Amino acid sequence: STQAETFEFQAESRKLLQLMVHAIYSNKDTFLRELVSNASDALDKVRLESFRDKDLEVDTSDLRILIEADREHRTLTVCDNGIGMSRDEVQELIGTIAKSGTAELLQQLKDTKDGAAAQELIGQFGLGFYSSFMVADRVTLLTRRAGEDTGTRWDSTGEGTYTIETVDEAPQGTAVTLHLKAEDQEDSLLDYTDSTTITNIVKRYSDFISWPIRMEVERTDSEGETTRQIETINSMKALWARPKEEVDEEEYREFYKHISHDWNDPLETIHLRAEGTFEYQALLFIPSMAPFDLFTREAKRGVQLYVKRVFIMDDCEALLPEYLRFVKGVVDAQDLSLNVSREILQQDRQIQMMRRRLVKKVLSTVKELMTEDPDRYAKFWDQFGQAVKEGLVNDIDNRDQILEIASFESTHDPESKTTLRQYIERMKDGQDSIYYITGSSRSKVENSPHIEAFRDKGLEVLLLTDPVDEMWVESAPEFDGKRFQSIAKGQVDLDEQDEDGSGTERAQQEQEFAEVLSWMSTKLADDVKEVRLSSRLSTSPACVVGDNDDIGPTLEKMYRAMGH
Ligand code: ADP
Ligand code: MG
Repeated sequence: STQAETFEFQAESRKLLQLMVHAIYSNKDTFLRELVSNASDALDKVRLESFRDKDLEVDTSDLRILIEADREHRTLTVCDNGIGMSRDEVQELIGTIAKSGTAELLQQLKDTKDGAAAQELIGQFGLGFYSSFMVADRVTLLTRRAGEDTGTRWDSTGEGTYTIETVDEAPQGTAVTLHLKAEDQEDSLLDYTDSTTITNIVKRYSDFISWPIRMEVERTDSEGETTRQIETINSMKALWARPKEEVDEEEYREFYKHISHDWNDPLETIHLRAEGTFEYQALLFIPSMAPFDLFTREAKRGVQLYVKRVFIMDDCEALLPEYLRFVKGVVDAQDLSLNVSREILQQDRQIQMMRRRLVKKVLSTVKELMTEDPDRYAKFWDQFGQAVKEGLVNDIDNRDQILEIASFESTHDPESKTTLRQYIERMKDGQDSIYYITGSSRSKVENSPHIEAFRDKGLEVLLLTDPVDEMWVESAPEFDGKRFQSIAKGQVDLDEQDEDGSGTERAQQEQEFAEVLSWMSTKLADDVKEVRLSSRLSTSPACVVGDNDDIGPTLEKMYRAMGH
């Protein structure tokens, strides 16, 4: 083997590591869930790769996870004979915790005073492999990628540095060895070299893993004789294939954490099965927090595709539309080929039908949440509403359902959002439109001169401040028979709702101001289409309004930014 090279953790990674290891977690057992989860992913990958690449030299006859405890040396090793990692991959994947969002996370942590909130933030970020350092003061990883000749050893105490060396001999796959912290150092630590302790943790967090997890356990038979033997300690039952009634909440939660790499519980679980000509099972989850990258170009979809229990692909865009990219889960279809490609999936009629059903199910689940648990619904909408609203532009078929579950800020209540149904219930007699104004922030639109007259007349106005609002509201004709009407556009006829409604005063004013208006029209001819008297304003002297079919100011800004 070559000489070990020493590398330094990036400052950010180091900070994060310190935070995780020393401050935050009460439940340290979860390190095992993370290691098993990684091993399971590696086994999925090697099976898939050997299937796709017949030339790959790899033995897939006994794919498994092996847990080995050494009481004397106080080590615990989690081995898999999965895909393994090349030296470069170790460097890239294990050598840095520099996942996208590290800097943002640290910034948010700095601003968070509350411990529980900090825990939620980190949990959502996911410790993964590095959670080993909660229980170990040194971690060694030995790995060899399937098809490669040499292996790689990575070693670190989790403080400032780690070492990497190339080794000649290594079994295919990955072995992670934890040098466990001394018990007296951390009184909360269980004895992780005890097979009963490990078995209990595996049953609790990783029972559904579809690969055998094996460990040497002690058995006492009826004659009182003790033997040691290797046993499979998980049931390996695919959760999604079991009837709903037989799965308990905790099992759903742990499964969610395995597939999402999130440490927090899901907000909502959706478990459904379709029987008949095209059989499938789906187990979907709505997370409790939006990921950091929800609005970046690289944002991944969260649904995995299985065919008859065999993992086929992550990040499967054919199963759910982009605006539901935050939904995590598994879809297992019975009648697809294991060779199915992304391109084929996109065109498959049955997949399209399944996708329509899944979309409807997610939307109806949110609708139920709205009536049954308004607080949880509000949390959902705060986290994901902005993404869901993209569906108002991209998924016209479901527009009504999406409008039904949407909520918006409005002049009615500065503290909470309103649904469109609630808005309609509060509409004044004779009001036939849903009034709205778009802009970049609540405070900006609230102080807009356009709003004054509406406020004076007690008319509620929706305050649409997400960039996407401008896009959908342009194209959505109505909700429940009520038109969306921008109060910054066209002639909003407020006079009709005047108390006396005679209109004589208005005629007088028109005459009185005729000269001024025509003078202003000529002066401003290059900049505005028309100058007219307005009943919109009560304190501001004048304001600029758009035509009904003009694009709104936010959209205009977006188009300009895009170079239009
Ligand atoms: P995550 O699982 O969320 O990606 P982790 O910190 O748990 O984050 O792991 C980082 C990456 O290291 C994994 O995505 C995977 O590519 C690689 N990795 C970790 N453990 C293994 C393993 N046992 N076999 C192969 N690759 C692994
Ligand atoms: Mg992981």
